Amino acid sequence: MLDDVLALIRENDRFFITTHLGADGDALGSQLALGRFLEKMGKTVAMVNSDEHDYNLDWMPGAEQVEVYDGALSQQEALAEADVAFVLDTNDEERIGKVGSLVRDATATTVLIDHHLDPERWFDVLFVRDTAAATGELIYEIIDGLAPEHLDGAIATALYTAIVTDTGSFRYSSVTPALHRIIADILERGGIEPAPIHETIYDRKSMPGLRLLGRMLNRIRLRYDGQLGYSVVTQRMVEDTGASWDDKQGFVNYVLSIEGVKAALLFSETDDGAKISFRSEADVRVDEWARHFGGGGHRNASGAYVKRPTFEKTIEDVIDAAADYIAFEPRHAPDDDLSPEDQSYLETLLDAASDSN
Ligand code: 5GP
Ligand code: MN
Repeated sequence: MLDDVLALIRENDRFFITTHLGADGDALGSQLALGRFLEKMGKTVAMVNSDEHDYNLDWMPGAEQVEVYDGALSQQEALAEADVAFVLDTNDEERIGKVGSLVRDATATTVLIDHHLDPERWFDVLFVRDTAAATGELIYEIIDGLAPEHLDGAIATALYTAIVTDTGSFRYSSVTPALHRIIADILERGGIEPAPIHETIYDRKSMPGLRLLGRMLNRIRLRYDGQLGYSVVTQRMVEDTGASWDDKQGFVNYVLSIEGVKAALLFSETDDGAKISFRSEADVRVDEWARHFGGGGHRNASGAYVKRPTFEKTIEDVIDAAADYIAFEPRHAPDDDLSPEDQSYLETLLDAASDSN
């Protein structure tokens, strides 16, 4: 609960903060906001992740303070001496990477701050709300509950980035009037403007990244009468275009944007299998489907890593399982498929028939 977290922060001095592999806007933004806030409260903070964050986030104020775990004594000591270890934006030990088991075994009080479904049971304290738009929203509540006067430009930028990236720029069903009020407070307290942040996040694409997008768009396929869309990013496509892995962020949303598509998948080929992104429209859930393949996430945005004999087999298995998790509408009656011309011709015939009655 929030109150437990506030008490832990008030009563302790040394904090360790980590988040999930391949930290995205919400993960890194939440980490930087909480880290800077704790420092402003006079606390000692170590921020250590298992791998590098998305390179598109290097611009975030304070990003260079987050260390990648390499077993250094200083990192081990930071965790051993921490009173409290925060895990942000994932509830899953494996998704934290090698820091996961270290945190789990540490003497520190482990605190989960997160908005995913089904948390693992090893955390000492939970501040979890699966209806929160972003972990950043929960970090805001902590700051607001303790010392909102510390919310400066850097913290505001981190929180804004966390929330804007996890809500698809304020469009998902998790967006509420209350969230917009929080955003208003973040902008006012931090004295920041949204436009430069949006430009930095969304308008700095590389040409190789766009070429990769073009290749991905060309390979979109539809199934289940156009209600499921999927595409692929193969290692070959990445090499051919000179793009980087991080460039495929957001690609799956193009597949979901097709009219009639209720659920969209992007299969990205890895060295030993596939990374799958699952997305769905508001009233369709994909989290159970992702969990069936060893992943998880949110109702409308989930992911999984699958090791299977071949990339093609993974695609086939995941698509074949779709109908177990999604209620696709039955095949349309043939009448629905008439062209507009045929439809209007049919209507004149029917009108003529009813006139003569
Ligand atoms: P993305 O498709 O953007 O990588 O991930 C979408 C969401 O799915 C993430 O926010 C995260 O909640 C979840 N997710 C992605 N990959 C995994 C995974 O391997 N395991 C689990 N449990 N969740 C994942
Ligand atoms: Mn998140």
